Amino acid sequence: MTVKAYGALAADKPLESLDITRRPPGHHDVQIDIAFCGVCHSDLHTVRAEWAGTLFPCVPGHEIVGRVSAVGEHVTKHKVGDLVGVGCMVDSCQHCADCEEGLENYCDGMVGTYNGPTRDAPGHTLGGYSQQVVVHERFVLNVKHDEAQLAAVAPLLCAGITTWSPLRHWNAGPGKRVGIVGIGGLGHMGIKLARALGAHVVAFTTSASKRQDAHDLGAHEVVVSRDADAMAAQARSLDLIVNTVAAPHDLDAYLDLLKRDGTMVLVGAPATPHPSPQVFNLITKRRAIAGSMIGGIPETQEMLDFCAEHGIVADIEMIRADEINAAYERMLKGDVKYRFVIDNATLAA
Ligand code: NAP
Ligand code: ZN
Repeated sequence: MTVKAYGALAADKPLESLDITRRPPGHHDVQIDIAFCGVCHSDLHTVRAEWAGTLFPCVPGHEIVGRVSAVGEHVTKHKVGDLVGVGCMVDSCQHCADCEEGLENYCDGMVGTYNGPTRDAPGHTLGGYSQQVVVHERFVLNVKHDEAQLAAVAPLLCAGITTWSPLRHWNAGPGKRVGIVGIGGLGHMGIKLARALGAHVVAFTTSASKRQDAHDLGAHEVVVSRDADAMAAQARSLDLIVNTVAAPHDLDAYLDLLKRDGTMVLVGAPATPHPSPQVFNLITKRRAIAGSMIGGIPETQEMLDFCAEHGIVADIEMIRADEINAAYERMLKGDVKYRFVIDNATLAA
């Protein structure tokens, strides 16, 4: 079926309205009419070919929510009419050790929601800036929030799980002091989730103007990272840092804030490397630097259910599909509170 989408034909071209085709649902497929799609900084990195390997046409979007409009004959997990979400993956090998553990995100055969290998035209996957998507049922999540909140649920599918997974893996909770670096799409969810998990939350921002917002999002303390005295006051105080910054920066400034045995998890994925940190900032306190990529399907469902139960959604600014190029420019300036979400109904216009 031909549907409307928004995407780019080349890295130096703006996104524009495109017609794309979706396969008819196979035996295990779910067809979703997309209501809303969040705008992740990874969309921008990919569509502008800042990371290697972008295939064109490129239709980004991996924070998808909508309603099931058809299912294949063997589908048991979802039915027509269900409210559902799709995050950063639409398939994986489904039988390796990672998949068996529910960590499909680390499967070598993981297929990204866009720019991943597929037999469907045009030979790579096309994402959620589109009217419809067809996805294997395993990669479709149940949304239990009220439908009225659906647009603000969309960012949970990437920004939510990408911060939830390291918070859970490194045991953020009562008695732990957790730093969240960068208050953008990921960071603002990191603050909400760490707070809801019971941790003491310290938000770090380059933008003094976000101080009050960070408190409102749930941070117990807010540090403007350009303020050397405020940074020094946090020295050796944090158990865990989740660093969401989308650009290369000095990691040593944050490593020194970790207690002995503390870990800084990098989730931000800048196109060029961070300067290498000082070994002495690691060895003297047995500190660790780690990385984490999105999350597996069971933990994504766990996060969605936790958020539905605790009334957690993203803070969003809704845009029309034809506002996406301007939205990218604002995202680059850190000028979004705190996630753009496309109203996919505007694709038809
Ligand atoms: P975003 O909304 O643009 O937020 C990034 C935040 O980083 C900004 O709001 C800003 O916060 C801070 N920042 C400080 N200096 C910056 C600079 N020079 N350039 C850009 N940001 C700067 O981005 P996002 O959607 O949260 O994504 C953040 C990063 O995570 C991206 O690199 C994205 O590709 C990556 N990502 C990784 C995964 C994963 O699985 N690991 C998943 C999704 C996204 P302040 O104003 O508070 O300083
Ligand atoms: Zn993302």
